[in-house]
Amino acid sequence: MDYDKLAELLFPEITKTPEDYETIYPQRELPEGAKVTRLGPSPTGFMHLGNLYGAFVDERLAHQSGGVFYLRIEDTDDKRYVEGAVDVIIDSLDFFGIEFDEGAGRSGDTGEYGPYTQSERKDIYQCMAKHLVREGMAYPCFLTEEEISAIREKQEANKEMPGIYGRYAACRDLSYEEVEANIAAGKPYVLRLRSGGNIDDPEEIKVRDGIRGTLTMPENCQDTVILKATGIPTYHFAHVVDDHFMRTTHVVRGEEWLSSLPIHVELFKKMGWRWPLYCHTAQLMKLDENGNKRKLSKRKDPELRLGYYKEMGYHPAAVREYLLTILNSNYEEWRMAHPDSPVDDFAFTTKKMSTSGALFDLNKLNDISKDVLVKISAADLYAFMLQWAKEYRSEIVPAIEGREDYLLPILDLGREGKKPRKDFVNAPQMFEFISYFFDEYFKVEDSLPQEVPAEDAKKILGEYLRGYDHADDNGVWFDKIREIAGRLGYAERPKDFKNEPEKYKGHVGHVSEVIRLAVVGRSQSPDIWQIQQILGEERVRSRIEKYAASI
Ligand code: GLU
Repeated sequence: MDYDKLAELLFPEITKTPEDYETIYPQRELPEGAKVTRLGPSPTGFMHLGNLYGAFVDERLAHQSGGVFYLRIEDTDDKRYVEGAVDVIIDSLDFFGIEFDEGAGRSGDTGEYGPYTQSERKDIYQCMAKHLVREGMAYPCFLTEEEISAIREKQEANKEMPGIYGRYAACRDLSYEEVEANIAAGKPYVLRLRSGGNIDDPEEIKVRDGIRGTLTMPENCQDTVILKATGIPTYHFAHVVDDHFMRTTHVVRGEEWLSSLPIHVELFKKMGWRWPLYCHTAQLMKLDENGNKRKLSKRKDPELRLGYYKEMGYHPAAVREYLLTILNSNYEEWRMAHPDSPVDDFAFTTKKMSTSGALFDLNKLNDISKDVLVKISAADLYAFMLQWAKEYRSEIVPAIEGREDYLLPILDLGREGKKPRKDFVNAPQMFEFISYFFDEYFKVEDSLPQEVPAEDAKKILGEYLRGYDHADDNGVWFDKIREIAGRLGYAERPKDFKNEPEKYKGHVGHVSEVIRLAVVGRSQSPDIWQIQQILGEERVRSRIEKYAASI
């Protein structure tokens, strides 16, 4: 077979050679050790946590080393293309502070290694495919779907490995004339790799993985499809060609790709190229109701969708911080030693990544969120909550917008000092937590403590109101409550009550709880005196009166 002739027959329009593309896309001029990474999402309009997880690794590897992180749109599976999906990808990562240096963008490409959308790279793939045909390493295959099914059935019956390989690769050795006749007859065909693997006794290949160490696997033996009947490449071929010419140094992708790694290795070898350092990340798992680890599922777990975190009002810094704790096993230790350092000071490494399934836990995210939000200024929390409300809860915007003077001290309540309160988790919960500061949302939610009968509660509130002086400082104010407690038969100090419970109805804490219920509507809250100072005298008096009248 004259492979040159075959290559011309299949790709008459392709005039460039792989060498031409080597010149068009030269090695990048980057500092020693700089890493080039990419995110290659399909434009399905659905971004999931795994995308963010991978993007985070890519971003850290590139930016920690002075390298480049770029976005490539992998749209070879054209059935799944969703209009506007590129914006969704960019927006959802941007929310988490992940920015690309290069690649597909909202209004076109940036960078010298494009086009960055696979559907625009057809000529490049075909040029490489033509090269493989010319070298006798790829061939057109005219097997129909029915023929392929029949082969599969036969293989099943013989208990053989399924696939198109060796003696089942019926089109491997077609003559030039047969190929020409098939094409003239309009028969559709795909282009297959002529695998060099030995199906009966495959050799072992060794591939170093940045997360998993050296992997040993059997070589590829399948005549894998590299160009579909439409001339569009499969993932395998597009990955190899793109990551070579875009000069990717590290390929971070999910472990679901591990099984096709031998195909990629064979393709890189046949093309005569070095493959990048693969970093196969572990699946994201969660604990189900019974405490068993299972994969996060699109159908069952809303938290898998990236948009979930924004909609649920999680602060991006909290999600970022949380992801780091599941990405690197030494992160929490580092955080404890460096509580105030910016996250980007942490030296991220693929070597500290889990290989056996990264456990994702919303409760842990909530805990970490509290630690992160306590360090964010009231002004930033205010802006964050307002932005969230504008997008997802417009009815609460009037309560928030333009009211910084009132709200900033509220958001800062109890956050000063050595042991600051960590009350806030996410935007809706923040609003709910401070909602008693808005008359339109204020309501008494909890009931009287059991130590205080209703008639005592009325008396407590009556006396409190009579003695109330808005100008009292915290100490004077509390002394007055102690006096009320003493007069009504409650211990002035909780420990007195503890020592001699039979002597008292309760203690000063129960008395102040009644006041808290009247002013805040809840049995727990930050410091009541401070809350009253923010609410103002009139509101305090009116709430006490109303509550007293209601019991
Ligand atoms: N387009 C592939 C996906 O969405 C990307 C895999 C890779 O990063 O190589 O799964």
